[in-house]
Amino acid sequence: MKHVGIDVGGTKCFGVSVDEYGTVLQEVRYPTPHASELIDLLASMFHELEGETTLGVGVPGLITADGVIKASPNMKGAHNIAVGPELRERLGIAVHVENDATSAAFGEWKAGAAMGARDAVMVTLGTGIGGGIVMGGELQRGANGFAGEIGHMIVERDGVECPCGRRGCWERYASGSALARLSGGTDGMTVFENFHAGDQDAAHVVATFAEWIAEGLASLTNICDPEVIVIGGGVIESFATKIDLLREKFSSALYSSAMRPHPRLAPASLGERAGAIGAALLVADSTS
Ligand SMILES: [Zn+2]
Repeated sequence: MKHVGIDVGGTKCFGVSVDEYGTVLQEVRYPTPHASELIDLLASMFHELEGETTLGVGVPGLITADGVIKASPNMKGAHNIAVGPELRERLGIAVHVENDATSAAFGEWKAGAAMGARDAVMVTLGTGIGGGIVMGGELQRGANGFAGEIGHMIVERDGVECPCGRRGCWERYASGSALARLSGGTDGMTVFENFHAGDQDAAHVVATFAEWIAEGLASLTNICDPEVIVIGGGVIESFATKIDLLREKFSSALYSSAMRPHPRLAPASLGERAGAIGAALLVADSTS
């Protein structure tokens, strides 16, 4: 059986059809439309990915268990859009709509870097920070489907302003945009190039950035006690999982570091496809 998954991003909608193991069979992409045209686009993408029987959709923001987008910070006009109910009625198939980072976590758990783990946390360090939590062999959604918003853990009370309306959220200190802020405006790629070339200022910025990432990972470990933390998100992905600096900072930030097993830090393995693959497998999982 084949399944369709579509990841609705800030700029593009990326769709795949996959087999039951998450192997990608076909993929399409379109620019993300205004929220009022989203349902039409999703329906036409589903038809373009032929021969499938279920549809999973990953969307940034707060999504109810029934598939209604309550709020999506990066999509204009996205309030109370009944994506799940409308698509179910229009297409006559099983449709599941999930937070995009939760979908990506599910993808990495079922078909990527966290495969086989019973307890895992996925952290996506992008413009903001997204996440997903698997505990006891189950994806955690919470009472309303809003669990896993790890980027909005407060790490500094009255700290830097966040688009969510609060201050001091972790994503303001440990995301791609945070790195640019810490470096005084230099983009992430350049900071890492300068760091690898031995630049002292870049080394200081990277060390501070690593500390902020480590603080959040340590808190997540205190809460979830995962065996693996999968880290995704472009430039930061290569930094976060390859240099020893982050592991050192993480190790020293852990509670009772010397007396416990340390979670493995693993790079995400599905790349930009994680959200779409996860969305496809999520609905497959919930209908099987
Ligand atoms: Zn926030």
